[in-house]
Amino acid sequence: MKPTDLLTLRPEGLFCPPAGVFIDPTRPVARAVITHGHADHCRPGSDAILATPETAAIAVARFGASAFGRVETLAYGVPLHVGDAVIRLVPAGHVLGAAQVVIECAGARAVVSGDYKRSPDPTCAAFEPVACDLFVTEATFGLPVFRHPPIGGEIAKLLASVAANPDRCHAVGAYALGKAQRLIAELRNAGWDAPIKLHGALAGLCAVYEALGVALGPLVPANDGVAAGDIVLAPPSALADRWARRLPDPVICAASGWMRVRQRAKQRGVELPLIVSDHADWDGLCATVLETGAQTVWVTHGAEDALCHWCAGHGIDARPLSIAGRDEGGE
Ligand SMILES: [Zn+2]
Ligand SMILES: [Zn+2]
Repeated sequence: MKPTDLLTLRPEGLFCPPAGVFIDPTRPVARAVITHGHADHCRPGSDAILATPETAAIAVARFGASAFGRVETLAYGVPLHVGDAVIRLVPAGHVLGAAQVVIECAGARAVVSGDYKRSPDPTCAAFEPVACDLFVTEATFGLPVFRHPPIGGEIAKLLASVAANPDRCHAVGAYALGKAQRLIAELRNAGWDAPIKLHGALAGLCAVYEALGVALGPLVPANDGVAAGDIVLAPPSALADRWARRLPDPVICAASGWMRVRQRAKQRGVELPLIVSDHADWDGLCATVLETGAQTVWVTHGAEDALCHWCAGHGIDARPLSIAGRDEGGE
């Protein structure tokens, strides 16, 4: 079997013919493998989903138990026969439970990365490179301008601003799944043990993380009151609307890979941009492509052309895979 026979693009999304499953379909299907719980990868309505136990718990917490006909779990590293193929889930280092999908059939191996990052994250298992013939990679930050600094320096920036502005609170815009919990865990590692105030939209997934063994320390609803000196976490949209007006003279912060682009920070009224991303940066993408040893690379999710061009320069057969319905605006 040719490696490229392992995967094909259908209107519903990426399909694996020998296994008869879709991976992160954008429409409801009979059977889907879900790489992780972000809404552009995990959508309600499919008859059956297969995911890591962590992603399954996140999916059910987000969409409710009735959103999927059947929820099947597969722990990292365990091979499962599906149709004529063997499927394995391998850590992607993106958010809790995030997996790459490894598909093997008749001596050929394909890996679908889902979203991934290579930098350490105390809230999830680290990315594991898997040698393969065909690698389907994301490229959210697939331009050389995107280089994410180590998170320790960004957390230090935030804590220095807190110390320098004792009469203000700090309101950090962070995506509800993954980014918020990673920031909290990194703040704890940096010695911030005061209660962290949470917008209601973040509470549910923080509770899921804690239930799955990721300790986050004292968390308090922001609705109970926010004082000067506090750190508050909220979805970026909440900081742009009326919700933020009740906060005491907030320093508006945002934690995103997009904060590398100064103009974006300005547009969004961000006073303190923190470059924190749960996606691989340019160097991470290139290094990962080489590590897989794949001769064929399909690029999805973002700046596809630049990475395809880079692959061609390294003798790798690459093409963009434009999957409708992907949205990394929330990153
Ligand atoms: Zn994601
Ligand atoms: Zn994504």
